[in-house]
Amino acid sequence: MANPQPHVVMLPFPAQGHIKPMLMLAEVLCHAGFRISFVNTDHIHNIIVENIDKSPLSQFPGFRFLSIPDGLPPEHPRDSSSIKDLFTSINSTGKIMFRDLIISLLRRDDLEREEIWHAPCCIIADGIMSTLAIDVEEELEMPVITFRTYSATCTWVYFHLEKLIEQKEIPVREGDEDIDRLVTCITELEKVLRRRDLPSICRCEVDPSILKFFLEQTSKMRRASGLILNTFEDLEAPIIRQLHSIYSKVYTIGPLQALLKSQMDDSPVAGAATGSLRQEDRTCIAWLDKQPAKSVIYVSFGSVVVMSPDQILEFWHGLINSGKPFLWVIRPDLVFGNGPNGLPEEIMCPTNERGYVVSWAPQEEVLAHCAVGGFLTHSGWNSTLESITVGVPMICWPLIVDQKVNSRCVSDIWRVGIDMKDSCDRSTVERMVRVLMEDKDEEIAKSTSKFANLAQKSVREGGSSFCNINKLIEDIRSIQSKKDDCKTK
Ligand code: UDP
Repeated sequence: MANPQPHVVMLPFPAQGHIKPMLMLAEVLCHAGFRISFVNTDHIHNIIVENIDKSPLSQFPGFRFLSIPDGLPPEHPRDSSSIKDLFTSINSTGKIMFRDLIISLLRRDDLEREEIWHAPCCIIADGIMSTLAIDVEEELEMPVITFRTYSATCTWVYFHLEKLIEQKEIPVREGDEDIDRLVTCITELEKVLRRRDLPSICRCEVDPSILKFFLEQTSKMRRASGLILNTFEDLEAPIIRQLHSIYSKVYTIGPLQALLKSQMDDSPVAGAATGSLRQEDRTCIAWLDKQPAKSVIYVSFGSVVVMSPDQILEFWHGLINSGKPFLWVIRPDLVFGNGPNGLPEEIMCPTNERGYVVSWAPQEEVLAHCAVGGFLTHSGWNSTLESITVGVPMICWPLIVDQKVNSRCVSDIWRVGIDMKDSCDRSTVERMVRVLMEDKDEEIAKSTSKFANLAQKSVREGGSSFCNINKLIEDIRSIQSKKDDCKTK
C-alpha cells in the first residue's frame, strides 16, 4: 500500500492575526495533498464554523477543524483587556486538553467524512503556543515546527528579551529621559532600534506576567525543529541569517496570501475568504470604485487594538482636516468608554462624501484597489505585509505587542512609510496624511514599488518563498516516511 499523505496538526493562537496566516498555510499544505487537523479553541471554533462552507478550505476532504477548551467560561471576554486571563488558562487547561487530543489522535485511526485519518506525523504550532506543543513533542516524540506569526525582526527581538532585562534596557517608561537612546545589544539592529521601539511587553505599564508569558514561550520555542515565518528573504535577509544561529531550518514563506494565489492561479477565489473572523462589509468596494486613483487613505487598526474616545476624535478631526477621502474601519469594540459602541457623538454621523466607515473591510481587496493611495495602520504584521505586497505606503500608529518594532522597520529600514508613534493629536494626523498623500516622497515611492516587486518575485517559481514552501513540504513528507518505516520494521 502506498504511504499515506502526511497528516499535520496545526495549532494557532486564538486571535485573528494568528489564525489567518495559519489557515493560509493550511490551504497551501492541503493543496500539496496533506491532511490537516486544525485545532482552534472552542470559542474560535464556534465563530469559524458558521462560515466554514464559504471557506475555500471546505473543498479539501483532507482538512478538518478540531477544537479544545481554552479554559475560560464562555461569557468571559477574550479581547486585549483580558488577554492575561487567556494566556494563563491556555497555559494550564489548554495545555492538558491539547495533550489529550494528540494522545487520542495517536491511539487510533479516525474515520471522518468517509476518509481515514491516520495518526499525525508532526505539529505546526504558533510560537506563542510553544508551552502546549513542545512538551508534547518531547513526551510523545512528535516533531514540532514553530510558526511565529511576527516579522523575522520582531521574532529576533523576542529572542533577546532576557538580554534586554540583564542589561537593564527594559522596562521602558513613557517619559524616560533616554527613551530615544539606541538599543545596542541586538545584532543587526544596533543602529535602528530605540528603547521606544521595543515591543509593548517591555513597557512599565504592561503587567509583568505578560512579559513572563512571552519569555517562557520564546524559550520553549527555541526547542522546535524548525521555524516558519510569514516574510520573505529580500525584506529581512540579515535577520533571517541571524535566526539560522538558533534553527537549522528557517522557512520564510511569505507573503502567504501572494504565495497562495500564485500556487492556485487556476482558482480566483483561493484564499480570499480564508481566515476572517468577522463579517466583511463589501459596500466599501463600490464606494472606492467612485474615487480617483490613489486618492483614498485607508484607516484600520486591526482586530485587537482599542483606543480612547479622545484618541478616536483626534484621528477623526485629523482625517477631516487633511481634506483627503478616507475609508475607515471602526470595529464595534474599537473604542472603550462612553456612548453606544463607545463612539463619541461626532463620529456617529453616518458616512458622508469624504469619509466611508465600515465595521470590517475586505482588507486585502481594499489595499489592492487602485483608489487607495495610503494606509494609516496600527502596524500589525499581517497588515504591514499586506500593504508592502501591493505597494501601498503606510502611516504607522503602533500600540501593542510587535507593532512598535514593525513601524520602526517600515519607516527606518524599508522606507515604505512614516511612523507617528506615541502621538495622535489632530494636527499630527493631518500633517502625516498630507505628507503621505501629497508630498509623494520619492524615496518612499521607490521603496514601496521595489518591495512590492520583490514580494511578488519571492512567491513565483524559483523565488525564495516558493523554494522554502517546497522544502517545508518535502521535510514533512520525510518525517512521515520515517514514521512509516519505523512502523513496518
Ligand atoms: N483585517 C480585515 N478587515 C479589517 C481589518 C483587518 O480583513 O477591516 C485583517 C487584515 O487583513 C489582517 C488582519 O485582519 O490580515 C489583522 O492582522 P494584523 O496582524 O494586521 O493585526 P491584529 O489584528 O493581529 O492586531
